[in-house]
Amino acid sequence: MATNYYDVLGVKKDSSPEEIKRAYRKLAHQYHPDKDKGNESKFKEINEAYQVLSSSEKRQQYDQYGQTFEQAQRNGSGFGGAAGSPFGADFGGFDFAGQGGVDCDLGDIFSDIFGGQQQRSARRNRGIDLEMAINVSFEEAVFGVEKTITLEKQDTCKTCNGSGAEPGTKVITCPKCHGQGQIRTTRRTIFGNIASSTTCDRCDGMGKIPEKPCHTCGGRGVLRQEKTIQVSIPAGIDNGQRIRITGEGEAGYRGSQPGDLFLVVNVSASKEFTRDGITLQKELPLSFTQAALGTKLMVKTLDGDIELKIPAGTQSGTIMRVKSKGVPHVGQPNKRGDLLITVRVIVPSKLSKKEKELLKQLGEERGETVEVDEGFWKNIKDTF
Ligand SMILES: [Zn+2]
Ligand SMILES: [Zn+2]
Repeated sequence: MATNYYDVLGVKKDSSPEEIKRAYRKLAHQYHPDKDKGNESKFKEINEAYQVLSSSEKRQQYDQYGQTFEQAQRNGSGFGGAAGSPFGADFGGFDFAGQGGVDCDLGDIFSDIFGGQQQRSARRNRGIDLEMAINVSFEEAVFGVEKTITLEKQDTCKTCNGSGAEPGTKVITCPKCHGQGQIRTTRRTIFGNIASSTTCDRCDGMGKIPEKPCHTCGGRGVLRQEKTIQVSIPAGIDNGQRIRITGEGEAGYRGSQPGDLFLVVNVSASKEFTRDGITLQKELPLSFTQAALGTKLMVKTLDGDIELKIPAGTQSGTIMRVKSKGVPHVGQPNKRGDLLITVRVIVPSKLSKKEKELLKQLGEERGETVEVDEGFWKNIKDTF
């Protein structure tokens, strides 16, 4: 299935180099694998066509002989003495009917195509993200806290500051890929020519290598080591939420962007309070008489004790709202939710003789039936 290169780029056989270049750019953008509607095989096909049609020499050969050639690897290893020469010499061009070494200038194409790929390799060399759990108390989650944590991770080598180069030596352009980070290969198969690009194994896609590798990290720029960092847990954080500490993941390969550290917050429960978002809740036990007659009580909040006025005749289950004594919104420590206090009227389970007498009197006063003999209660209890 030898594809016609002119058809691939959608140009005429007599199109000018400018028209070819324009068509190529348009299509390369359209099918770039990084795009949503990208298409890698189509992209490769376009590039292959452009490599040939953008070179007047190759185009002439193509016009004359068609697609019966094989492209040599754009891999310096096979071409002795080429190290250090960007493009040209070590790029074998394509072996055309036995005439090897047709020179070709790929600078323009590669700057176009591999711009994106270098970005991708930079992303790949970025340090990995880490995640760890951090325990905070209920109060710390509400008010925020500074914590010191120690983690073991791949961190920047202190000898070379992450460059991977022995101090005093330079970082040089990779002689194998000439700084592209990618090795482009075109293979001839029975289905046609297949172009592919692989990450350069000499520089791991960085395009640069240390002249002399750092003796501490062996040129990687990173070392597994312990690091202690201060982290600020914001007020209002809730159980299970994650905090991103930018740049505190593992260090990137040879000075590449570090990953991030994610702290998963574990908030311990409180004996006294429960929390629903920014709302705090607690229960307030009241005696029957306090609820009936009304009272003033000191009630514990996270901000200290406050005086709470219980109106006479307060029913069990009544919710009293204390403004702004709840949990702050994360990032807005002064904007706080409310504290909801639910009144629970507790019926006394044990009464003294005198208390019993008084309650009986109260019942009679209110015309209520209150007399139950002890034997009845005993029977009820036995049933359960
Ligand atoms: Zn080092
Ligand atoms: Zn390389």
